[in-house]
Amino acid sequence: MLDREDWLPLARKLDWEFSYTTEQQVFPEVISGHPWLPQSSWQDWEESFKTSYREYVQNQHEKDMAVYAVRDAVGRLENVQSLATPWINGLKIHAAALPLAEFTGTIGNLRGARFGRDSAWRAMACFGALDEFRHTQIPLLLMHELVRWNSQFDWAHKFYHTNNWFAIAARHFFDELTLGQNAIEFHIATNVILETGFTNLQFVGLASLAHEAGDYLFEKMVTSIQTDEARHAQIGHPVLTLVMKHDPDYAQYLIDKWFWRNWHLFSILTGVSMDYLTARDQRSGSFKEFMDEWIVDQFFRTLDEFGLKKPWYWDIFLDELDTYHHMIYSTAYTYRSTLWFDFVMPSPSDRKWLRQKYPKYWNDMDAVWERIGERWKAVGPGPDNERLVLGSALPAFCELCQLPLSAGTPHNNTANVLAHEGNDFIFCSQPCRWIFLREPERYANHKGLVKRVLSGEAPTDFKALLTYFSLTPDTWGKDVYAGDYDWLQRGGAATP
Ligand code: MN
Ligand code: MN
Repeated sequence: MLDREDWLPLARKLDWEFSYTTEQQVFPEVISGHPWLPQSSWQDWEESFKTSYREYVQNQHEKDMAVYAVRDAVGRLENVQSLATPWINGLKIHAAALPLAEFTGTIGNLRGARFGRDSAWRAMACFGALDEFRHTQIPLLLMHELVRWNSQFDWAHKFYHTNNWFAIAARHFFDELTLGQNAIEFHIATNVILETGFTNLQFVGLASLAHEAGDYLFEKMVTSIQTDEARHAQIGHPVLTLVMKHDPDYAQYLIDKWFWRNWHLFSILTGVSMDYLTARDQRSGSFKEFMDEWIVDQFFRTLDEFGLKKPWYWDIFLDELDTYHHMIYSTAYTYRSTLWFDFVMPSPSDRKWLRQKYPKYWNDMDAVWERIGERWKAVGPGPDNERLVLGSALPAFCELCQLPLSAGTPHNNTANVLAHEGNDFIFCSQPCRWIFLREPERYANHKGLVKRVLSGEAPTDFKALLTYFSLTPDTWGKDVYAGDYDWLQRGGAATP
């Protein structure tokens, strides 16, 4: 029998010259990606893991067994019920956003497995596809147990099949990132930006918070997933190296575009969970501190090594580090009945902590919570008064990221309008406008929520809209305590 070293290089590097067709026909640029180069240019493509299928299957089996062991030990319903209520609601966001997005990663990787330009890349992308399928199944399995207790967990499977506004935004993102993408852009946007950059926040930063919160199941789930991500993320780096060599402007464009798109989504998923839905004494640092360490410092050092520059909107991004997820959270709290999880108001001590961590604009943010607190005080606590402390007009959405126009600060909203081929488009920020303008043919015909309402496809009446969002009085988002905060009744909100 041959030794591993004798057969593996041959099995991984198995490209050949075509005799009855052309390379352009086998790997069309539209689906393999730009720049289109002959295979000889890609033949040195290499990654460090060099896994065989046999090793892959063995390894994954062991990882699955470890997840099951943790589930059997601490994954019972009563374990989840014993966690802090705000944390459980952070879990509901992730339970919905994660599994089927991972499945779109399966499709994206399969595109690389067929249209990637080197055989070792294609082999690695096959494993990537299997990884992402695993990342779909694990959370669906673990969350399923919780559906009979709390119907908001039903959104783990249902979310991407709904017309909920956040699902429209998340689909807009993943449809472009993974489902409808050529192999080169997919691997740079997904492996380099999302997996090397942002999932570290989720899978390392948030996993450590989960540990502090006592949620060992979530911790195990995301750290197990992360071991796969760390392996298949390696596909993107040698792809980026070659794109940098042949078309550095395009490489820089992909970084600038996808960094911004990822930033908005992750500042919601991770930022809100870290700064609002994790108990104050369990936070090891602020979202911004995680961003500073993992993204601003480490990730951009990695990009620097590729010869890439910081995005042109760097100052806008640094400002948003202090504002965006705060703006989104207060907007989402105001419109909580349009979402499938519950919310908590930051207490005076939370707000004091937020002021310390985000000194630049917190005054503006604090005023928003002050007003919400005053409103609760005026109407009094209780589920019956919930609707009196609630936004009931449809907010407007950015026509690039599809998220509410919540960029900038309460005093300086950065929404802007663009006239394009006879239509007006509105964007939350300059980078979203810039991305749209680079590829208008890709984005202009998307049917966002406002377009659906204007065309009669979605209802105008707010209550009917909640049904359109697949929500019912049972499942729509509420204040966890229905405004019954002892600090609020004591009048503590006035002096945080
Ligand atoms: Mn994954
Ligand atoms: Mn992945």
